Amino acid sequence: MVYQKNDEDIMDRKKSNELELKEANLERSLIKTIRQRQPQFLGHICRHKSLEHLAVTGKIEGKGSTGFKILKSLNREEQTIIFRLRTGHNRLRKHKYIKLKIGESPICQCGQGSQSAEHILQQTCSNLATFRYLFWPELITLTKKLYGTTRDLTQTAEFAKATGLQI
Ligand SMILES: [Zn+2]
Repeated sequence: MVYQKNDEDIMDRKKSNELELKEANLERSLIKTIRQRQPQFLGHICRHKSLEHLAVTGKIEGKGSTGFKILKSLNREEQTIIFRLRTGHNRLRKHKYIKLKIGESPICQCGQGSQSAEHILQQTCSNLATFRYLFWPELITLTKKLYGTTRDLTQTAEFAKATGLQI
């Protein structure tokens, strides 16, 4: 009995050693994969850092992290609009033409410049002058329209919806 018991113990120990070894190997291979992917991942983060970091957190140098909370306080549709306008990854003509190779030209229907977020939100798009005046009777900076308070951002999203443009 004693012998058998010891034998079982040895088997158990052997099994647990094998298991440990397997786990260790798995861990090693995971670490290896992570290390291999890290530079790629970091490269991606670095390349997209400025724009996307800004878009997600709303952080501009020296400013707090309230930007993220503000973006989160909007509804889903508004968040999407603001995010697209901030990053420039939107369905306005400039991005569609230059990045997505869709459409005949980046020029806005008004003929006065490339159709970008700045073009429609600020003073250059003559087609939207009335809308802009209705939403912002006074001049407001692009930064405030895209990175301001919840009220500012809601206003921008409402404006974008009112224009009927696909953002
Ligand atoms: Zn225009």
